Amino acid sequence: MDTTRIAVVTGANRGIGRAIATRLLSDGYTVAGIHRSGELPEGAHSYRADLTDSESVTTAFDAIREDLGPIGVLVANAGITKDGLLARMSEEDFAAVIDTNLTGAFRCVKAASKDMMRARYGRIVLISSVVATYGGFGQVNYAAAKSGLIGMARSIARELGGRGITANVIAPGFVTTDMTAELPEKIAADYLARIPAGRFAAPEEIAAAVSFLASEEAGYVNGTLLNVDGGLGMGH
Ligand code: NDP
Repeated sequence: MDTTRIAVVTGANRGIGRAIATRLLSDGYTVAGIHRSGELPEGAHSYRADLTDSESVTTAFDAIREDLGPIGVLVANAGITKDGLLARMSEEDFAAVIDTNLTGAFRCVKAASKDMMRARYGRIVLISSVVATYGGFGQVNYAAAKSGLIGMARSIARELGGRGITANVIAPGFVTTDMTAELPEKIAADYLARIPAGRFAAPEEIAAAVSFLASEEAGYVNGTLLNVDGGLGMGH
């Protein structure tokens, strides 16, 4: 099997992750979706794991390798929010968001990079957020985790760039999914007023950017931060 055509997507059961899995399937990849609940798009191989549990992550990646072969593409997409004002944010809510969004990505990157180093080829795409650099009201925990992904990708790019491995970050703006459905109407309206595109994104628009960064022809794009946010984060 061609080592470059096996792609792993975390949180592939819904929202942006589901759109990414669907897009990579239509690009011709063999897609392994890591999910803790729900179902995957038709054609994706299902691996259940909770990203906050390193043993469960290692078991899933070992099973993917065993069943499908060496991993060429990793899209670390899964994430959560636990918004709240700083004064009221508990250390628990801060730690939980870091554990899923940042340490969870680290667990996956570590597991997938083994194959990539061996093959001297790999594409790692981390799904961050516009708030990583813009800041988010009530999102001290989430913005800290999402900006951490930028440092992670750039360090991977420096460590592994010489082995044909790229690590890039996509920073989506406001995308219509379950996550944003939770936002109070006033905050959503305030964001909308600041987006030059004048609308929110569809998950497929994030998937299109992933498709490029995951491709062989994106081999000279490394450590970059690609905002897909309708212009919201310009200059940040
Ligand atoms: P959703 O809330 O719709 O989906 C989140 C996904 O992450 C689900 O598949 C969920 O699984 C999975 N997940 C969460 N925690 C874990 C865990 N511990 N182990 C395994 N899977 C987990 O979010 P979106 O699709 O909107 O967001 C996807 C990514 O994009 C996230 O990283 C988010 O931060 C980022 N993003 C989203 C934006 C938006 O506007 N929607 C904007 C900027 C960034 P389950 O179904 O089991 O809960």
